[in-house]
Amino acid sequence: MLFSDKSLTCKDCQKSFLFTAGEQDFYATKGLVHEPGRCPECRNRRKQQAIALNLPSVSAPGAIPPKMVDVSEVACAECGVVTTVPFRPRLARPVYCKECYTKQKAALQAAESAEVAVEAAPVETVEAVEAVEAVVS
Ligand SMILES: [Zn+2]
Ligand SMILES: [Zn+2]
Repeated sequence: MLFSDKSLTCKDCQKSFLFTAGEQDFYATKGLVHEPGRCPECRNRRKQQAIALNLPSVSAPGAIPPKMVDVSEVACAECGVVTTVPFRPRLARPVYCKECYTKQKAALQAAESAEVAVEAAPVETVEAVEAVEAVVS
């Protein structure tokens, strides 16, 4: 699509400014159908104002509440070492220190993959497929 420079009038300062072919192309690629209502200077000024308005609340110390991290002190269910965990432990679940947790996880994963291997063993698979085919045809 070809664009040509267009003269527009700024809403803010009433000055005419050029909406260049390049800008029109840029707007088109962004899917923007509206022409800019303000000249680049006014747009810039508004952007600066927006930044100025937003900055203090973001950068001011103490403006952002400290992230609430629920750290709980618990004794490892395996070795008894007192450790901190970034969550509130549920009574039903044993809590482990990092080392034991890693060990437990590895053991759990090994057990799970063993289970999967058992489940994956082809039992009546052919029959099941035949049944499905019978229903389809
Ligand atoms: Zn302007
Ligand atoms: Zn432990």
